Amino acid sequence: MATERRRIDITGLVQGVGFRPFVYRLARACGLCGWVANDARGVCLEVQGEVLQIREFAQRLTAEKPPHARIHDLTSEPIPLREESGFVIRESDDSAAPSAIVLPDLAACDDCLKELFDPDNRRYRYPFTNCTHCGPRYSIVERLPYDRANTAMKYFPLCEDCRCEYADPGDRRYHAEPNACPECGPQLQLCDRRGKTIAVRENALHQAVVAIDAGRIVALKGVGGIQLLVDASNAKAVRKLRERKQRPHKPFALLYPDIDAVHRDCDISKREELLLSAQERPIVLLSANGRSSARIAMEVAPQNPNLGAMLPCSPLHHLLMESLRRPVVATSGNLAGEPICIDNDEAVDRLGNIADLFLLHDRPILRPLDDSVLRVMDERPVMLRRARGYAPLPLQLPDLSAADDDLLAVGADLKNCVALARGNIVYPGQHIGDLENRIALETFERAIDDLADFYRLEPRALLCDLHPGYASNHWAQKKKTKRIGVQHHLAHFFSCMAEHAYRGPALGVCWDGTGYGEDGTVRGGEFLHWNDGAEVKHFASLRPFPLPGGERAVREPRRSAAGLLFESLGREAFAQEPLHNCFNNSEIKNLTRMLERNINSPRCTSVGRLFDAVATLLGLATEISFEGQAAMAVEYVAQESDTAASYPFDMEQQDGRWVIDWVPTVVALMEEGRKGTSIADRSAAFHNTLAQIVLSVALNIGEEHVFLSGGVFQNRRLTETAAALLRRNDFRVHCHSSIPPNDGGIALGQIYYARCMAACGIQVGEGSALCV
Ligand SMILES: [Zn+2]
Ligand SMILES: [Zn+2]
Repeated sequence: MATERRRIDITGLVQGVGFRPFVYRLARACGLCGWVANDARGVCLEVQGEVLQIREFAQRLTAEKPPHARIHDLTSEPIPLREESGFVIRESDDSAAPSAIVLPDLAACDDCLKELFDPDNRRYRYPFTNCTHCGPRYSIVERLPYDRANTAMKYFPLCEDCRCEYADPGDRRYHAEPNACPECGPQLQLCDRRGKTIAVRENALHQAVVAIDAGRIVALKGVGGIQLLVDASNAKAVRKLRERKQRPHKPFALLYPDIDAVHRDCDISKREELLLSAQERPIVLLSANGRSSARIAMEVAPQNPNLGAMLPCSPLHHLLMESLRRPVVATSGNLAGEPICIDNDEAVDRLGNIADLFLLHDRPILRPLDDSVLRVMDERPVMLRRARGYAPLPLQLPDLSAADDDLLAVGADLKNCVALARGNIVYPGQHIGDLENRIALETFERAIDDLADFYRLEPRALLCDLHPGYASNHWAQKKKTKRIGVQHHLAHFFSCMAEHAYRGPALGVCWDGTGYGEDGTVRGGEFLHWNDGAEVKHFASLRPFPLPGGERAVREPRRSAAGLLFESLGREAFAQEPLHNCFNNSEIKNLTRMLERNINSPRCTSVGRLFDAVATLLGLATEISFEGQAAMAVEYVAQESDTAASYPFDMEQQDGRWVIDWVPTVVALMEEGRKGTSIADRSAAFHNTLAQIVLSVALNIGEEHVFLSGGVFQNRRLTETAAALLRRNDFRVHCHSSIPPNDGGIALGQIYYARCMAACGIQVGEGSALCV
């Protein structure tokens, strides 16, 4: 029998997932000798033995790899034989630049849960139980390589029993860096509003349960930050949380004890059930089934047919929910507009006026990770907020063989998320939130430093939005690094292509609320055409309309309606129902003057604002308290109709660009209202019209691949209608899935756009603006 020795290098998601013990057991089972080790790029190993056994080993290496492992690249080459016996796991080598991947946090695995509820196990009811297959990761890592000394667990020296598990390659906890037990690991404490500890361990948990039962608000230190919990069936308690959090309408998410309890309140598809139970444990938006009102107070999600549900993630969540046995509101521990709170003292300080009690522990959280949010659309999960469980998993771009300096993209100011890139690998950071205060900006800077430090990236260029008012743009201007502005909707378009690793000619439908146009206009109803070369053509756009009061129109959909009708009818606009009833006489006088003299009334092409205007014209919303509220109302009311009707619209060419004229649409929508057609039917017909507009432009340009991006495509009714219509006409439709269609995806798009342009030989200079 021939004998050989091979060197195998593996990159991808192979650290912190039990890959080395798996290799160790497999090599021994195949009768091979050699070694395996972590290195900065992933895992490397050498095996020696009979050729056939090495072949079997190589096959099983990829086929039987641990559940969370993902192999990006595997190289194998023959090397000279060595005098050797046995197989060993070697110490990590951390000399080279790290590209091994930091794992996201994972929910407790079944084995750990069994131990958690087994009275004979030494980890019985221990809230910080974990193993190689589960537990905290990104929330506790300080730096690479991923060793205990480089995590928040360095403060907890292992006891003898835990040390034995950690050192035994045959044990489930071999090199489980956060390994802990009641003897040596973190412990619970319950504090009052002044931060004074009033109970510890099991007693702390028990008192927190009693408090929630009694309708009190409990701040819980979860995996990626503080959550605020309150009994979801207690309307008074939920109202109290809304008042204290200054959040009048935006829906709260619910934490359910188990999947059966979710089934009692929601209609769930198989796909949604899998998503809820996945180890990432996201919040999933589900349709409430109409029987939920007995258990869920109306105040949880006012005027909303959906519920955002999640299942317990950490063992602590499991223990809490096992005692509560009913859904509780679980919302981010922050004040409106601030990032989620992570530190014990900071929690008491910032949330002392919201929570009655604080269930905390002494394991530090190193960076804020909100709960991720997904929604199933068009038979696929679509990310709406990408954080715990998903960040900071990298994405692989197509190989462009372009100049590949390290890049930093700072994204946009709403739903901010940054991204860094080396070569064709992009590292998107976690959802930060809106960059509108000091705490958010600090978190933003910290997210950039984190990723740059982990992967020792040194960005040579900095990508930002063109919006002159963006804090992210101001931050970029202060840096010495070369700065490149990327137009907002270009970034949306390329973000969607990037996540599908697509390169080639394509049509991008980029619809959102606000994106700063290259000419200073407010854009958001754009069609872009890429020829796979250096040029992206601005192919079509919505007919613009004025927004009296500018930014104020974002909070007052009635102003969008006023602008829309004024553009179509002039002064007659305010005589129309229901617009007439949305303003008093002096407001009408004032708005008419503004619109006629063009005072503080920027023109916009935004489909987001068009939805706002339609919400007012349908009598659904005049003023709102959170972004997207009016558009959501329009979407939800359409659920009650399955009409195939649609309204007319015009398309004409102006200055080499197609302009979509919505005036006939709005006229028909109002005419139908006068005829008594229901709000649901009119809303559904409005959605159908938008889908027809997408189809018309697609047919006009005749490009096979169509990408739908921008916050408007968080609307399930619109996304599914447009996708189905395009497919029936033989287009290939691509929607977002792992990256949000909203501004959370902008940073990725900025990077991919810059890479594609570099591949086409486009040189960009200091502060230059790449735009359509
Ligand atoms: Zn486990
Ligand atoms: Zn221990």
